[in-house]
Amino acid sequence: MLDTYKHKGLRKQLVGVVREKGIKDENVLVAIEKIPRHFFLDSSFTEFAYQDKAFPIGNGQTISQPYTVAFQSELLKIKKNEKVLEVGTGSGYQSCVLIELGAKVFTIERQKDLYQRTKTFLPTIGYRPRMFYGDGYAGLPAYAPFDKIIVTAGAPFIPEALVQQLKMGGIMVVPVGEDVHTMISLEKISESEIIQREHGNFKFVPLLEDKADSKK
Ligand code: SAH
Repeated sequence: MLDTYKHKGLRKQLVGVVREKGIKDENVLVAIEKIPRHFFLDSSFTEFAYQDKAFPIGNGQTISQPYTVAFQSELLKIKKNEKVLEVGTGSGYQSCVLIELGAKVFTIERQKDLYQRTKTFLPTIGYRPRMFYGDGYAGLPAYAPFDKIIVTAGAPFIPEALVQQLKMGGIMVVPVGEDVHTMISLEKISESEIIQREHGNFKFVPLLEDKADSKK
């Protein structure tokens, strides 16, 4: 796969669009400018890679819209070397943004073929998050606690296991709702005190509760 001057130019434009929409975190913008998003789409869709749009990646799933990736990443306020859990690996693009921000990424995907595809693909472009096939509702208790947790699918409710796996002082970002998803950030102040904030509405593919993987 080639990353040409044309791609780099399109990426610069995309960063302009995302900045215009309100993203201020320079590290997030630098990450978007650096990662060749067209590598994450089928080659026939290369021309769509640098539009600020979600895009199908197979298995009925999508790579999130760049603005949404940037928005969630900004809310996480990632510091270097923080342990970050991502629920919903999908194409792996969000994982790469988190890695560029300096995070140690642990990511879970519940669709086996998507998990395998992304696990094979990411190292070929130099990114190596810890990847797990499993149910995001359960998180990764064996690797908890996490400094930050990001859910990249729309959850019908805030999964309690994930709240449990958040470090004291940690932040979780999760879109919650049925049809439309309200972006919620949750800051764990102490075991008994959690500050919850709302950040507007977004549209995600659903965080699936049924553990049976129909594609298995
Ligand atoms: N972060 C992704 C966006 C993925 S879309 C990217 O950057 O491309 C949401 C992903 O969540 C899909 O791949 C979907 O299969 C996955 N998903 C849905 N329910 C899940 C669950 N219960 N546990 C883990 N992953 C889940």
